[in-house]
Amino acid sequence: MEFISTRGKVAGIGFIDAVLMGLGDDGGLLVPKHIPHISEDTLAKWQQLSYQELALEIFKLYIDGEIPHDDLNKLVNDSYATFRSPEVTPLRRVKDGLHVLELFHGPTFAFKDIALQFLGNLYSYIARERNATIHILGATSGDTGASAIEGVRGKEGIKICILYPHGKVSKVQELQMTTVDDANVLNLSVEGNFDDCQRIIKELFADVAFKQESHLRAINSINIARLLPQTVYYFYAYFQLAKQGLTAGAQVNFSVPTGNFGDIFAGYLAKKMGLPIGKLILATNENNILERFVNEGLYQPGEFHMTYSPSMDIQVASNFERYLYYLLGENAAEVAARMDGFKQEGRIAVTDELRAQVQRDFVAASVENDDCLATIGQVHDDFGYLLDPHTACGVAAADRLAGKGEVTVALATAHPAKFNEAIELIQIEQSFPPQIQALFDKPQHQKRVEGSNEAVKAELLKFF
Ligand SMILES: *Cc1c(COP(=O)(O)O)cnc(C)c1O
Repeated sequence: MEFISTRGKVAGIGFIDAVLMGLGDDGGLLVPKHIPHISEDTLAKWQQLSYQELALEIFKLYIDGEIPHDDLNKLVNDSYATFRSPEVTPLRRVKDGLHVLELFHGPTFAFKDIALQFLGNLYSYIARERNATIHILGATSGDTGASAIEGVRGKEGIKICILYPHGKVSKVQELQMTTVDDANVLNLSVEGNFDDCQRIIKELFADVAFKQESHLRAINSINIARLLPQTVYYFYAYFQLAKQGLTAGAQVNFSVPTGNFGDIFAGYLAKKMGLPIGKLILATNENNILERFVNEGLYQPGEFHMTYSPSMDIQVASNFERYLYYLLGENAAEVAARMDGFKQEGRIAVTDELRAQVQRDFVAASVENDDCLATIGQVHDDFGYLLDPHTACGVAAADRLAGKGEVTVALATAHPAKFNEAIELIQIEQSFPPQIQALFDKPQHQKRVEGSNEAVKAELLKFF
């Protein structure tokens, strides 16, 4: 498979080069040149596969021989051996028509592990096979950082630096990052919010000379290797329902707590590959730029809000451009012009016709703090199931937007123990998994820096 940039100036590169490039050298995002279509026969066969076998089949379509079969098989098996559930992403029925897909059984208790365990092992593989220097630079609203660090800590040939907004990640998220004492890990606690961290990263990566000299590699969801592992569980969840008696070919909705648009874009990709997905329900919190885009056709950052779901406290969604590319009929020149316009004017408006297309692709709701907590309380009381605040946004959005008789899978993106600050507010006491409990006694390693490119660059030069 060849990968191309949404802005048209990078073309014909292979999978490994696309992983190493991260952000396209022309500032665009890399996408597969063609989206493979999975026939109904193949879908029926895939239903019997284990999670790992399914991941292997899907990856093979995009990686086509660049990584030999046995090596890829080992990468997949190693990546999911660290999960606490043999099914990797078990599906739980909550009530009639609503299932929760638990994506949080990896080492850091958030769904990011599904892609980042794989990406960590993949970087390690590339470092060995290509003798490449891997200096990872990433920004996190909390979960990506912990997960990326866990994916590469102590691995030879790899260093990782993570930026996170000072005081704006949950206690457990902070501990998961800062209690790691491997010498190849640097945590920078940045003055500002997540969008500031993300902007710094984007600008440092856009400096192609600096990026190449410093061997900077991306782990954020702009990296194509984040997306592929995330498509797998859409298929897997669908097949679990099919085994439980879903009518052949019936559509299933997915409700996705959304921040950077990576997870839901993977669902969009799965749908384009031929999985019978009904509604893709895009759930946001008060930081609702994407909800407004779907419902009003205007993409324009609003005011930043801190919420109980900090991993979704994002205004500028880094993967949005990938969707824009397909929305604009794969016209890279048009994407480049729109993104340029966004940089100048801070907004992208689409025609009524395009907005109608957006509304065929997604439905969206923004779920405010009170509603988020109320949903956690209600699902806990009525069904004895404890949702984390991100997942609760997805469940609340599904309650509003799924039609009668439809089957919906709400993606559970984090374990509730990661976000006890919110759970406590509604007087629910939870017991922490031992792996999380143990973090509270460990020393922390982090450095506070001002939110400027220069300050971050100076730390990087010292570290690398
Ligand atoms: C990252 C994250 C999200 C948002 O996912 P995107 O791919 O950025 O849209 C939602 N919930 C949790 C718990 C997360 O860590």
